[in-house]
Amino acid sequence: MNFASLDLAPDLQKGIDACGYKKMTPVQEQAIIPARQGKDILAIAQTGTGKTAAFAIPILQRMTDSAADSVTTKPRALILTPTRELAEQLANTIGAYAQFLPITVRAVFGGIKLSSEATKLNTGVDVLIATPGRLLEHIAENNVTLSAVEYVVLDESDRMLDMGFISDVQAIMQRTRKKRQTALFSATLSAAVNELSHKILHNHVEIRTNKVNTAADTVEHVVYPVEERRKIDLFKDLLAEHDWYQVLVFTSTTHQADKLQKALREAKVSCAVCHGDKRQNARRRALADFRSAKIQVLIATEVAARGLDIPDLDFVVNYNLPYLAEDYVHRIGRTGRAGNKGYAISLVSREEERSLESIERLIGGRIKRIVLDDFEVSDRDPLIAKVAKQKRPSRLNKAGSITIKKS
Ligand code: AMP
Repeated sequence: MNFASLDLAPDLQKGIDACGYKKMTPVQEQAIIPARQGKDILAIAQTGTGKTAAFAIPILQRMTDSAADSVTTKPRALILTPTRELAEQLANTIGAYAQFLPITVRAVFGGIKLSSEATKLNTGVDVLIATPGRLLEHIAENNVTLSAVEYVVLDESDRMLDMGFISDVQAIMQRTRKKRQTALFSATLSAAVNELSHKILHNHVEIRTNKVNTAADTVEHVVYPVEERRKIDLFKDLLAEHDWYQVLVFTSTTHQADKLQKALREAKVSCAVCHGDKRQNARRRALADFRSAKIQVLIATEVAARGLDIPDLDFVVNYNLPYLAEDYVHRIGRTGRAGNKGYAISLVSREEERSLESIERLIGGRIKRIVLDDFEVSDRDPLIAKVAKQKRPSRLNKAGSITIKKS
């Protein structure tokens, strides 16, 4: 279905044309029409599905339809999102859709001076994008009021809940109009998201685009068993041997990210980190350098990288496995897009075997192991023997694993 068939306001259609969109993605096909009719929406859709346009286009259209009634400089639409990067990305994307409309789109998020944001808020904003904590700060300072907000989107709801924003989100929702339209977008339908949807949505339409817990068929998954302390050496060896370029590497903690960066820099590998302890500008620069292929490796933590619109990559590396198996699918969603071949490479220590099992259960198949000669896990065999003796179906047996001897 083409956007042209929606009969949108000409200046909105012009913005969409300028973005180069012609055909709608599945989430857009399902969400735009009911949302434009004013229905609440619960959409289970991951980043990369075109979800931003799915919630933003109907809002921009409805604001345009009722523009004549509006004399307010207060925000009429509010989009809450968990991280600074996402807020910035949403402002850019939605700003592009609205570029020919008399609608102002602004984002506020931590890491930027409150006073400079306050000045911008004072000049008026129609669509406000915010991280919850920063928005509450502005509310406390009377820099913004939400009394005119009639459209609310909770973006990446599962992540906002995981990050402990539930009470902030609820406090914010209470300040918006009672009679409002609400859309809840989430990558997964967790119990917490389900509960929140019951609290804030009315007669909503439910949309699921993808089976959430599936990875693209074009992704080849590979596991390198290795001791935790030897992961840095293994990663450096792999990089040198395969000449991987534009590699996105996930670590579990900021400390691991920094340590890896130090080791890679010592080995003269161009790299940058993107994590929550870095200043906003440094994170932005790291991403821009990665996108433009100025650096070979971007090291990121889950939260900082979540939802970022990174172009299709050949390689995503899990330096540590994520705690939640679903996050594995999110992480590797950056590779193997649009029918291209991608590789999801995981360095897995013995301590992470259980996480690996959950991931294999979730993606429905055993992942190929490649045991490199110098990096064998020392006490792997006794463990395998012990598991076999217990006569439980073993996921640790070596069938399917490959040992590569280094020359
Ligand atoms: P999102 O899931 O909203 O982060 O979008 C992922 C990427 O898809 C972004 O780069 C969008 O600009 C792009 N995109 C969204 N909708 C369309 C569309 N209908 N046609 C082409 N590209 C799109």
